[in-house]
Amino acid sequence: MKRRWTVTNETDHGRTPATHGSRIDAYVDRYAARATGMVASEIRALFAVASRPEVVSLAGGMPYVTALPLDVVGELVADLVNRRGPEALQYGSGQGDPALREQICEVMRMEGIDAGADDVVVTVGSQQALDLITRIFVDPGDIVLAEGPSYVGALGTFSAYQAKVVHIAMDDQGLIPESLAQTIYALQASGQRIKFLYTIPTFQNPAGVTLNLVRRRQVLEICQRAGILVVEDNPYGLLGFDGEPLRALRADDPDGVVYLGSFSKTLAPGFRVGWALAPHAIRQKLVLAMESAVLSHSTFTQLAVGQYLATQPWREQIKTFRELYRERRDALLGALETLMPEGCTWTKPAGGFFVWMTLPEGLNSKAMLPQAVDKRVAFVPGTGFYADGSGSRHMRLSYCYPQPDRIREGVRRLAGVIEEELRTVEMFGTRSRGGHSGVDTPGPDLA
Ligand code: PMP
Repeated sequence: MKRRWTVTNETDHGRTPATHGSRIDAYVDRYAARATGMVASEIRALFAVASRPEVVSLAGGMPYVTALPLDVVGELVADLVNRRGPEALQYGSGQGDPALREQICEVMRMEGIDAGADDVVVTVGSQQALDLITRIFVDPGDIVLAEGPSYVGALGTFSAYQAKVVHIAMDDQGLIPESLAQTIYALQASGQRIKFLYTIPTFQNPAGVTLNLVRRRQVLEICQRAGILVVEDNPYGLLGFDGEPLRALRADDPDGVVYLGSFSKTLAPGFRVGWALAPHAIRQKLVLAMESAVLSHSTFTQLAVGQYLATQPWREQIKTFRELYRERRDALLGALETLMPEGCTWTKPAGGFFVWMTLPEGLNSKAMLPQAVDKRVAFVPGTGFYADGSGSRHMRLSYCYPQPDRIREGVRRLAGVIEEELRTVEMFGTRSRGGHSGVDTPGPDLA
């Protein structure tokens, strides 16, 4: 008899939705332990509302790509396909396009880094570099040191690999070397394994502060003495508002620092081109990790970025971005100065995208967010930037995306919300809402 392939019920193969559901539940029960650290933020839903046009978002960390010559970029991409299509649309090497790696070295020279293309690995944004470095160094329970507050996307990665993040205190001049030394000493004395220090020394996300020159030397010395690798994340380094770019940590310690860079803020995040510059042995491991993750990065976007760097005045474009962001920073700082109620304090960034604001005692930024969105302004609560969910008296305000007038209007609305909160606290005492449940990842456009 001829065998026939029959399907009795194409939608659920004879199972009821209930059994179907419990089967999924059983799969979900089998998630790896590391998946438990991957939690969506409670505030994600609010941000969906916050992206409505009537809301002034001081939350997002999105570069203002509209300032790019988009027509030129369009022509360049078309030209790339026409002239080098078979190469651009083919797999590439795990380490990245050799010509682009040379160009990356030229970019890094602006920060005093003298490196060879052989030690560069091109990654899918610097976010992937962060992932790879954590993947090759961190076992569950290992310690990663990071500024407090620190970049939410890095905390998400560390949590995904089950690292234990220990925050190091910072002030207006960046990471405090004494706190770093004391923390390392205490952890090592109790036999704990520190895998690396993760730091954003220049125009930090979220605090907007910059590690001063004396401290740069001290941080490197402390880590060298303690045998701790430094991971320097520097996506904003070329977006300073005054003078020449600062010297990167990597420039003064090629063996002790893994440097992460990105074209997301100096060109466009949509290309997803970042990189890691690492001492030779680490670089080799990074390439293997890269290949196991994605085989090879997109040749197409690497060549597009390479073409842009080779044919366009990219230094001028960075200057355009710097001027634009400076104007927006000034709009934000000016509005905060005139409108914020007494007791609020904030940092004064000399570059990058972010201001870190501290609220008067008793206020809780996360608890305040629904009211703020109601009044059509959004920010990111400070709790997103600490692995332990502290930081509720803080908020991150970004000035990279809205126009100056919108920024001023946003601050006016926010000041109104804070004043109202202050009155409530005066009448009823401290607001306690806004608890914590894992790393408070708000999503990529807000990172
Ligand atoms: N590091 C920091 C400090 C960032 O702010 C960001 C983006 N917000 C990244 C890394 C990741 O950037 P990308 O992957 O786009 O290079």
